[in-house]
Amino acid sequence: MGKPRDTLVSIHEEARRERLLDMEGRVRRYRTACFGILALALVMTGGRSLGYWWIAFLAAGLAGFAVADRFMRKSLRPALWIAGAWAALPALIAASALATGGATSPVLVWFALPAATLGFRFEPRGIVAGTTYVVAMFLLAAVVPDPQAAWEQRDLLIAIAALIVSTVILSGALVESDRAHRRRSTLDPLTGLFNRNALEQRLSELNGQPCDPGDGLSHAFLLCDLDHFKRVNDEHGHAAGDAVLQDVAYTMRATLRAGDSIYRVGGEEILVMLPGADHEDALEIAERLRVAVRERRPVGVAVSLSIGAAVAEPGTVDCDDMLARADAALYAAKAAGRDLVYLDDFEPELAVL
Ligand code: GH3
Ligand code: MG
Ligand code: MG
Repeated sequence: MGKPRDTLVSIHEEARRERLLDMEGRVRRYRTACFGILALALVMTGGRSLGYWWIAFLAAGLAGFAVADRFMRKSLRPALWIAGAWAALPALIAASALATGGATSPVLVWFALPAATLGFRFEPRGIVAGTTYVVAMFLLAAVVPDPQAAWEQRDLLIAIAALIVSTVILSGALVESDRAHRRRSTLDPLTGLFNRNALEQRLSELNGQPCDPGDGLSHAFLLCDLDHFKRVNDEHGHAAGDAVLQDVAYTMRATLRAGDSIYRVGGEEILVMLPGADHEDALEIAERLRVAVRERRPVGVAVSLSIGAAVAEPGTVDCDDMLARADAALYAAKAAGRDLVYLDDFEPELAVL
């Protein structure tokens, strides 16, 4: 609790952050293999043109990623760490190319490697900036030191430049396909509840819809968070924690009405959307959920739920505002001792036991 979260923007950014961390985790092994292949290629040239100080270049490239790996998980903006490690690569390749003949260096084709990884790492603006940077480094290594030699090698250099740009475009297309696929997956595998992707879609549909409680057009959100869930894990183990989450999800679903929807928005945080619910409905349903979870004792473990409720203001639905109010109410319920339902006016509506 207490962290700034759950505005539409932050949900979107969080999804982007998670995707980047996931991708980096998957790519790590292959990245190391690629560095190994480059080292092998250089060994096979017998150090003829570069000598053996390329080892320093490769080590610097690997070290850059090791540092980024180390710090990005804890960073709110992991893309900056990755951008730093990534940006070292074209510079190292440029230095290697300069040391091995500039316009005639076989190393120039390797500029396609950092180009290939731009698409999955960065957003469109970053991809454009990254491509410009790679091409600039390529020109710096191939053309600037000896334009006459570059002119003589122009066919090869044009072919390499085309390879670099085409690589960015093709890898960007593959990443776009991956993103579309991820957006389509909307269920949380552990609990079977809707996940954040589904929530984002639903929020964008709901945002700006008319809200007229007098005419039965109202909406309410319940932001629910299991109390002291860390302790459940610590005392009973992570597997039991998972089983509790599954059971709580099942219990909540069984308690809700058919048209209500339920989303797992974080580890042990669940958002319930109640179409048509006014203040009273919201409080009644929230209280029903709280009691159901408390009485259930999933897998024999006593757990409780704190709930922050927010109801849409008459006019048009502002989801961002509702999420912020539900979050504030949840925070207040936690601060007041947990196992409570609070409405967004901060008054203790239903204090319990
Ligand atoms: P509070 O009452 O303030 O909400 O305390 P808390 O311990 O529930 O909150 P905190 O945010 O400190 O800890 C949440 C815990 O939930 C930590 C994490 O290990 C656990 N958790 C998150 N996701 C999962 C999961 O998928 N499975 C299991 N077993 N535990 C999870
Ligand atoms: Mg909790
Ligand atoms: Mg929590």
